[in-house]
Amino acid sequence: ELSKVWEPIQIGSMTLPNRIMMGSMHVGFEKLQNGVARLATFYAERAIGEAGLIVTGGAAVHPEGGMGEEYCNVYQDEDIEKLRLITKEVHQANGRIALQLFHAGRYAYKEATGLDPVAPSPLQAPINRWKPRELSAEEIEVTIRCFAEGAVRAKKAGFDAVEIMGSEGYLINQFLSPVTNKREDEWGGDFLRRARFGIEVAKRVRQAVGPDYPIIYRMSGLDLMPDSTTMEETLQFAKMLEEAGADALNVGIGWHESQVPTIGMMVPRGAYVWVAQQVKQVVNIPVIASNRINDVRQAEKILYEECSDMVSMARPFLADPYIVQKSKAGRFDEVNTCIACNQACLDHIFDGKVASCLVNPLVGREAEWQLVPAENRKKVAVIGAGPAGLEAARVLAERGHQVVIMEAKKQIGGQLNYARQVPGKEEFNETLRYYQTELARLGVEIRLETLAEADALIEEGFAEVVVATGVIPRRPEILGVELGHVKGYDAVFEKRAKVGRQVVIVGAGGIACDLSHLLMHDETISPKAAEYLQEYRILDGRAVQQLQQRKRKIFMLRRGKHVGSGLGKTTRWAVLANLKRRGVEMLTQIEYSRIAEEGVYFIQNGEERMIPADTVIVAAGATSNNSLYHALRDRLPVHLIGGAKEAGELDAKRAILEGATIGRAI
Ligand code: SF4
Repeated sequence: ELSKVWEPIQIGSMTLPNRIMMGSMHVGFEKLQNGVARLATFYAERAIGEAGLIVTGGAAVHPEGGMGEEYCNVYQDEDIEKLRLITKEVHQANGRIALQLFHAGRYAYKEATGLDPVAPSPLQAPINRWKPRELSAEEIEVTIRCFAEGAVRAKKAGFDAVEIMGSEGYLINQFLSPVTNKREDEWGGDFLRRARFGIEVAKRVRQAVGPDYPIIYRMSGLDLMPDSTTMEETLQFAKMLEEAGADALNVGIGWHESQVPTIGMMVPRGAYVWVAQQVKQVVNIPVIASNRINDVRQAEKILYEECSDMVSMARPFLADPYIVQKSKAGRFDEVNTCIACNQACLDHIFDGKVASCLVNPLVGREAEWQLVPAENRKKVAVIGAGPAGLEAARVLAERGHQVVIMEAKKQIGGQLNYARQVPGKEEFNETLRYYQTELARLGVEIRLETLAEADALIEEGFAEVVVATGVIPRRPEILGVELGHVKGYDAVFEKRAKVGRQVVIVGAGGIACDLSHLLMHDETISPKAAEYLQEYRILDGRAVQQLQQRKRKIFMLRRGKHVGSGLGKTTRWAVLANLKRRGVEMLTQIEYSRIAEEGVYFIQNGEERMIPADTVIVAAGATSNNSLYHALRDRLPVHLIGGAKEAGELDAKRAILEGATIGRAI
């Protein structure tokens, strides 16, 4: 029973019908044709899905602090008309929307703005090629005024509120932190002077919009930067913001340049709720918690335990615009849950592309891709129940086709069943649960342990066939690869192969990284068990340590240069750091000599080396399993998707996208 989530809440003069907010995300639609109209439709759909409040992606208050014309801007009066498109459509959908007032400071890209980035001090961000210029005292005044003017424009454009972006390491945060603010005038130095810019922004925005207009302030609860703002200062800043006229505090976590993962899949759900809770204890205005919250039941718990007054979710609204509505109706199993992979949202944005969603590729394609019922309802067979086949079956059935999905294995999921075993990737369970629920709801017939054959498919009268039979792991030509202790990655994931304590993995791509994580966690004593055994004095610390030392030794070998090359920008660094911390060794640019009983021989820098191994696991790519396609090609309309079409790294994003595409084409 969710009761807290549905309690209305007041933010300034604005009443929200529930406590789930769609947090700010830059989705990059601005750069598409009719970009603002697309954004309007995108937000309106989330309003129809009953998001309590929507916050837009950042809108630049000054050209220096934006990302050029490809971003939302609110620094000139012409922007008002454009933005009005958004508020109009959201209000028609009975929703509420706030504009986020944004200035990137030293994170702004010169290539986008054509201007030097600016900052409190001329210190370059490690994630930007451009060194910022120090703002003069006069320019600081202008910038503050720009925030106020931006807020007035937002109000004129019909937004229900503004959110001032003061976290994530952007300009306001840069002023507050001693790491980035080295000024010695009235805008830098001690805490109060560093805080002054952010507070002035709040005050001036308040003055400009009047006493009743709701102002949300996104403050940094935790910078996750060495030597940055302390918790004590953060809490004091929160109190100062309340006094300065903020109506609610949205608590952000981590700077973009921080070395700590804050929203990746490896971050446990709700890991940062405690930060909002600390802020809540010192102010009387609503406090909003965020980061790795992807389930409305989890939000209910957070609210029930009074950790915050509202919960912000951002990416979950990409994965499922109707997450709130479905949860309200108790249809939790129908929610397409955001798995925090970042692969199609943040990774796309960092690559300069438009955001989409791995589990919901409709995002970014709304205008072209609305589901229309099939004109000609057909009996369609989908062969293979991996992500590609599952999505194809779901979409086909949704459009009215009669769909049978056949799977050779005992369960649906294909390679999702590998990923979901990996510690930190448990969210893939949700994707599987979603498909299970959807296929059942749509009446898709699932035949497990069924090997599809061309003749039988024709005999049964299928009008069209979608082949999504996935891949066959590749065995590279290395001398000794046929030895008994050499196993395929599939056999390890499927628990058909025993793995010893000395492991060499041939390959260092995404699958090899996943395997290493899996095998490193498969320890004699888990950290939890170690804690318990010591607490009850069953073992002493030394004994536990000794047992833990019997950990596996894992080496990953690769001919190429890079480890984890298939992984996205926003996660690769964290995955590799984690493996290194756990003692996994990675050797690249090697040439294999041979695999022998005692280990793997290879050449590195012109010298032959051997790494002892009792188990060698081959994770060196795969080839497409497409024989059924060829058998059917001249006999029936047949379509090839996913790994069966193009083998490569385990790529659920492409698989689901291809399933979604073919599902609309038949
Ligand atoms: Fe969530 Fe991944 Fe979709 Fe991004 S791409 S919204 S992280 S599921």
